[in-house]
Formats: sequence, structure tokens, C-alpha cells
Amino acid sequence: MNQPFKFTFENIKNEYQQVINLDYQFITCQEYVSLKKENKLARKTVVNRVDIDFSVRKSLRLIEIFNELNIKASFFLRLHAPEYNPFSFENYKIIKYLIESGHELGYHSEVIDQSVIWNEDAKECLLRDIKVINEMFNVNIKGVASHGGMTGLNNLDFWKDRKPSDLGLLYEAYDHQPSFNLFQEAFYVSDSEWTRWKCYNKGKLIEGDRRTFAEHAKDGHSLINILIHPDTYYDAHFYDNEK
Ligand SMILES: [Zn+2]
Repeated sequence: MNQPFKFTFENIKNEYQQVINLDYQFITCQEYVSLKKENKLARKTVVNRVDIDFSVRKSLRLIEIFNELNIKASFFLRLHAPEYNPFSFENYKIIKYLIESGHELGYHSEVIDQSVIWNEDAKECLLRDIKVINEMFNVNIKGVASHGGMTGLNNLDFWKDRKPSDLGLLYEAYDHQPSFNLFQEAFYVSDSEWTRWKCYNKGKLIEGDRRTFAEHAKDGHSLINILIHPDTYYDAHFYDNEK
């Protein structure tokens, strides 16, 4: 029988395992910056990105999967999500575990939303948020990924006239500067449509291509950028964690 629900934790683990078996080397966004600079990127590389949009609790499942598979990822954390408190008792423990496991913690930015809703300066909001995360988790955040929320504003606009280095950062996830430029140079595959995959080849949307991460990896792309969201995954079906 055809399996009705594809985005199970078991299936995503299997997708990653297949790509590992294809001899891909998995790296974080921060590692991408240094390996690119040193011209040391492996012939088959996956830059592994996770945006924590709605659930830190589900992120724990991905951390456990990555740890079992012995690969690293960059996780981007929101500070102002109505859906989770990054400093709640359980979520704080999970983020600490993420860091102790050697994954990268980045900031999932909503600075334009903040600056408009609060009438505060966006740059100050960003610097303050990063400082708070750094203090709280004793880290030194080097990267930002912009969250696409429900305000109708585009948090990426913040970067139109700024460079990550202006703020002491190494990269923004869609940064076009030669030191990063990942989206434009990679094959990008994402679960952001929840129930189906979508992909871009070197910045260009491939219409109607719903193949999975592993199916794309079989094509042998030298550089793949995967973006997944913990919220997309479940054990049996999407509503099995209902509270
Ligand atoms: Zn997001």
C-alpha cells in the first residue's frame, strides 16, 4: 500500500542516510564559510540548515537523528515566536543539548517585523537579540537566517543595504556576497511547503519538481543546500502530537 504520510521522522532519517551513503559530506553554514574561503569544500557537500519555526521540542528529534548519523547542522532559533519560548525549562535544555552536540546555533531573524511592530531600530533589535542568545547559551552566533512570517513584511529587506560583517557576522543564509552566495551556487531543496519538497537550482525555482532530498542527491550535485523545519515532521501523522 502507498504510504499516505511521507514526512515522518523515520523517513527523513532514511533520506539523510541515503545521502550519507552517496558519500556526501555534511557541514554547517559556518563551516561552509571557512571551507569555501580555504578552497577545501568536499567534491560532494551538503550544507545542512534547520529553521526552528514553531517547535523546539520537535527539534530534539532532529538533533537525535543527526547525532545518530554523526552529521552536523545549523539550527536557527527565533526569540519572539508566539509558538515557543526558547528559554522555557525544556526548550533551554534542548538548545543546550544542540550546542553540546556540536551543531551550530544561529539566529532566525524577524528584525523588520520587530522594528515595525515595536517602532524600534532594526539594527539595534538584531544586535540585542544576538547578544541575548549569546549570553543565555554562552555561544558566539555568527550567522542569521531571515524568517518568513505572517506580517507581510520581508525580514530579508534588512540586508538590502547591509553586509553581515557590518554586524560582526559571517553570513546571512541568502547572502549574495562571494564569501557565502550559497543559494545562488547550490542546488537548494526545502520542505517549506510542509507536505511536499521544492527545489531551486542555483537560485532558480524548478517548477513542479517534487523529488525528495535523496532523489536529488542521486543526480550528484556537487553542492546541496537543504533546509528543513522540525515542525514538518511527525511519527504517524501530522496531528499525532496534538495537545
Ligand atoms: Zn522561518
